[in-house]
Amino acid sequence: MTEILVLVEHDRGEISPAATEALTAAKQLGETLSLNPIAVLIGPDTAELGLVCRDYGISSAYCLGSPLLSDYGPEAWAQAVVELARSHPPAVIFAVGTDRGNEVLAQVAARMDLPFIANSINVKRDDYWKITRFQWGGSLLEDITVDTDTLIFSYGHHLIEPVTAPLEKATEVTHVDIELDASLTRTMIQDRVTLSEGVTLSTASVVVSGGRGVGSADGFAPLEELADLLGGRVGCSRAVTNNGWRSHADQVGQTGTRIAPEIYIACGISGAIQHWVGAMASKNILAINTDPEANIVTKAGYAVIADLHEVIPAVVEEIRRRRS
Ligand SMILES: Cc1cc2nc3c(=O)[nH]c(=O)nc-3n(C[C@H](O)[C@H](O)[C@H](O)COP(=O)(O)OP(=O)(O)OC[C@H]3O[C@@H](n4cnc5c(N)ncnc54)[C@H](O)[C@@H]3O)c2cc1C
Repeated sequence: MTEILVLVEHDRGEISPAATEALTAAKQLGETLSLNPIAVLIGPDTAELGLVCRDYGISSAYCLGSPLLSDYGPEAWAQAVVELARSHPPAVIFAVGTDRGNEVLAQVAARMDLPFIANSINVKRDDYWKITRFQWGGSLLEDITVDTDTLIFSYGHHLIEPVTAPLEKATEVTHVDIELDASLTRTMIQDRVTLSEGVTLSTASVVVSGGRGVGSADGFAPLEELADLLGGRVGCSRAVTNNGWRSHADQVGQTGTRIAPEIYIACGISGAIQHWVGAMASKNILAINTDPEANIVTKAGYAVIADLHEVIPAVVEEIRRRRS
């Protein structure tokens, strides 16, 4: 068994940002473990994905086809991976630990009667597999030793910086027809509802987040203005969603969205661990808080110790002045 199968996440052919993390990780893991990384593309709309594999230095891919793979369904996707693994037994099967990545791999592991290690940060092999993964939203690191012929794991989302490594030759895509039972389509997407247009919280390069310190739903208007000017999105803490000031779709954290923007502007947020685990992948953090001892202030690269109700309107005004 010399292959690493990496699941390339997409939605009807549109590549997920997590897929570029997965391909980067597959290339690095292949080099570290002297194994051959092979991308697994599922469904009919995967032609573009082959080009992305080439950009990220993955020379081979399996494209799994079946009439039942026309859209995402965790059971059908998982069984397709299992069928592939049965005909081409790999040393490793992994994905990035998004909702879909973890969902599919949990199904794969259950169907193959193998362990699944979710949200890993480091994978090594000597006599056994040695894995470090995070638990409890990142507040605990766990070292695991696994004795298995085929290792199934996911990397934590936003842990790997995607790095292109374009190949001279196109990725060689092998088409594999998979026979699936109709019962596997019990869980399929019926409808898609767009909650917000444009940039999403998890992919925004700027996130302006507000916490309890914002004081009210109306208090978010200046944060909206700042986010608009910076081409970003507004996020919030759970204190805010608990108060009904914003919807849960805007919540950053362990029970919200994990983000990885270029800059995270945290306004009136204390930085509790459950919030921090959703924000810690941010490249830069600016905290605006009246409390110099607030957890987020001690972790941020930049901090303004002041009332956000004074700071944000002043920043908005200054940006407008410079742009006019
Ligand atoms: C199982 C579980 C899961 C959770 N999941 C999440 C999650 O996903 N996301 C999340 O956010 N939380 C989560 N929480 C809640 C978390 O523990 C905190 O309670 C929450 O993050 C606190 O929100 P906050 O920082 O807005 O409020 P607070 O902790 O009350 O902090 C408010 C901050 O605002 C500052 N402030 C006040 N007024 C001003 C002002 N005028 N100008 C500037 N600063 C000001 C204060 O100094 C303070 O630092 C979870 C908790 C549990 C138990």
